[in-house]
This record gives sequence, C-alpha cells and structure tokens, in this order.
Amino acid sequence: METVLKNHKIHNLTEDLVLKEVDAICDEIETSGQKPELCTCGQCRLDAACYVLNRTQPSYVVSNRGVARLERETLERRQKGIDLTVLIYKALEDVAHNRRPNFDHQSHSSKEAEYVARDRTVFNIPVIIGRVFNGVNFEPLSGIDVELVQGGELVAMRDANWQNPYRFVKDTEGTFTFWPRPAEAKTAGEQSVFEFAVRIKTEGFETLNHFFEVLVVSEGVADVPFSMSRTFKLQDLYLFPEGAEEDAD
Ligand SMILES: [Zn+2]
Repeated sequence: METVLKNHKIHNLTEDLVLKEVDAICDEIETSGQKPELCTCGQCRLDAACYVLNRTQPSYVVSNRGVARLERETLERRQKGIDLTVLIYKALEDVAHNRRPNFDHQSHSSKEAEYVARDRTVFNIPVIIGRVFNGVNFEPLSGIDVELVQGGELVAMRDANWQNPYRFVKDTEGTFTFWPRPAEAKTAGEQSVFEFAVRIKTEGFETLNHFFEVLVVSEGVADVPFSMSRTFKLQDLYLFPEGAEEDAD
C-alpha cells in the first residue's frame, strides 16, 4: 500500500511484510490442516493483520525500486529477530475468540458463491480498507456501523464472509473492510473508474459521507483468491459529535 506525496511513493515496509506473513501462515494452516480452531477466511486474515500492525513499528521508506528492495531485505532480517510469527498466531487466536457471529467464515480457498464463475471477464474490485476515529478525542470508534454505497445504494459484497453494513468489532482499532462483488466487463484489459462512498449515520454524530474512486482494469478471471496485496486503502476518516462545530464558534 502506498501514498503518493509530490511524486514520491511513501511505503510502509512493515505493512508489506505483515500482510505477506499473515497470508503465508494462513495458507500453511489451511494446507496442513493443523490448528482447526483458527479461522483463515479473508475477513479474519484482515482482522489479524490489523491487530499485528497496531502492535508493531511502522517502517517508512520512499520507494525507488532498488533502495526499497535492499531496505526490505534488511527489515525482513531484523523482524525475524522479533517474533512476528508468534504475534500473528496470537492475533489469529484473538480474532477467532471474537469471531464475527453473522458470517460463514468459509476458508478463502473453498469455492466462492456461484456468480463468481471462472470464465467470466470482470472488474475485480479490490478489498477496501479504512479507519474511522472520533474527530474530537481521536479514539477509534466501536459499536457502530459503516456502509459502502454506490449511487446511494448499499454495495453487494463478494460473498457471505463480507458484511455491508460493517459492524466495528473489538481489537481492530476502528478499522473497516469491504470486498465488493466483481462487476461485469466486456473484454479484458478495459479500465473503469468505480465511484463509491463510505457512509456512517449514527446517533449523536454528524453523518459522514466520504466519496472516493477506484480505478480497476478488467480481467478474464473472476475467481481470484483472496490476497491482502490486492487492497485499496482509504485515508483516515473522522466522525464528529453533533453540535461540536457550533461549540467551537
Ligand atoms: Zn473468519
């Protein structure tokens, strides 16, 4: 995940490493059949990655291919010292204990819903990740719902493991995630801009509507496996209590 600042790409290497390791460990759990008590569905992988990222130091670099690669190798060696694997297992255990009750938690490698046929050409919309904080005290929000909308309507999710509206759960520090259903395309390699909005309407707060666009190139495969490297990260969002602005005058 990258942020563009005056033509330089700022990159958090820890994020890359954590996302890669969570995927690797979950894939290993799925193939070995060990640790059946842990859930490795896409949603739990993301919850676990957020848990780990909230407990590790970010490591920022301005990426420029050669340098980034060298730095990445150094970081990987250094992080091997701290036990990322242990932390990831701890995260998966905690996530499993707080399991979201309304979902199937199917393994991501099990077959997706029937509309995701292999031979269709589609726009695979990436997993959308963001965070919401209370704009007054900067605390992460919990116990509220966030919606992903397109043209005023709730966006359909890829399968039953993804919720819309999304209910914030403990331990993910105000992080929300959505994985929209793929959209039909005529040919592969077509570009399209998808306009979405994140909407939060909750008692006691001003309604939040954050509009954004995602550029997607169509592909001849709809049945893409869940991968945390295919994500679209939003800027941090802030929710303000009703009347907060008036009080400031
Ligand atoms: Zn799960």
